[in-house]
Amino acid sequence: MEPKVVLVTGGSRGIGRAIASHFGSLGHRVVINYASNAAAAEESAAAVRAGGGEAMTIGADVGDAAAVDAMFSEIAEKMGPVEILVNNAGITRDDLMLRMKVEQWDEVIATNLRSVYLCSKAALRGMLRAKWGRIISVGSVSGIAGNPGQANYAAAKAGIIGFSKSLAKEVGSRGITVNVVAPGFIETDMTAALGEDVTSSAAGNIAVGRLGQPDEIASAVGYLASENASYITGQTLVVDGGLAL
Ligand code: NAP
Repeated sequence: MEPKVVLVTGGSRGIGRAIASHFGSLGHRVVINYASNAAAAEESAAAVRAGGGEAMTIGADVGDAAAVDAMFSEIAEKMGPVEILVNNAGITRDDLMLRMKVEQWDEVIATNLRSVYLCSKAALRGMLRAKWGRIISVGSVSGIAGNPGQANYAAAKAGIIGFSKSLAKEVGSRGITVNVVAPGFIETDMTAALGEDVTSSAAGNIAVGRLGQPDEIASAVGYLASENASYITGQTLVVDGGLAL
């Protein structure tokens, strides 16, 4: 594939960094978005460059419409239109339903779902013009199977699946595919925050007997972005080592 402009939201850490590095190793031009951790985003950019790709970093809250518009204008000016969009940015604000505050609900829906609408819409204009594009969103097995304490998160991740199926039907005839990768339990800052007890007992419920690594999600995203996946759209690829079986 010719070098493409790839935007990875939340590319500064964890799964997003692995996705950015993966595209960098294929020689693509990678834009690394982040919320506040500019130093971590620069480390991701260095990894992209070390792999042979081009990189730029850009801070923007992907749940904020004005910030997303400004981000896409800056990318268009410096790199050109986004050809591969990876909606990866995400947060958790877990709590059991009776304790969940409306702020916890709103923050998760804005960062994990509203962002997917905002970024996909902004990227679509250029993709429609080019008659080619890839939109890949990072969902979660929580959005398929549910998870106690994650009603906000599971609602956002399930929303991404319905969103992607609908958009896939709208733009499939224009050379644009829209898919979801749904990870299980992956070793990143997000899961480290749960503590050793939770992560080691989670491994007991995973068929392959261990947590996943960010690279194992990145390779699935890379596949869906490739020409080999040109006839796959509206799908959710579960990458969870058998957790949700
Ligand atoms: P992580 O290590 O906590 O990293 C989160 C990333 O999202 C960071 O780059 C962060 O930027 C960025 N971010 C957060 N809020 C943002 C906002 N408002 N605007 C822009 N960027 C924002 O998370 P992760 O584990 O890699 O998760 C990545 C994705 O995979 C998420 O969508 C998550 O829901 C999903 N996922 C993860 C797992 C897992 O087990 N880890 C499982 C299923 C799904 P800063 O560095 O600036 O904070």
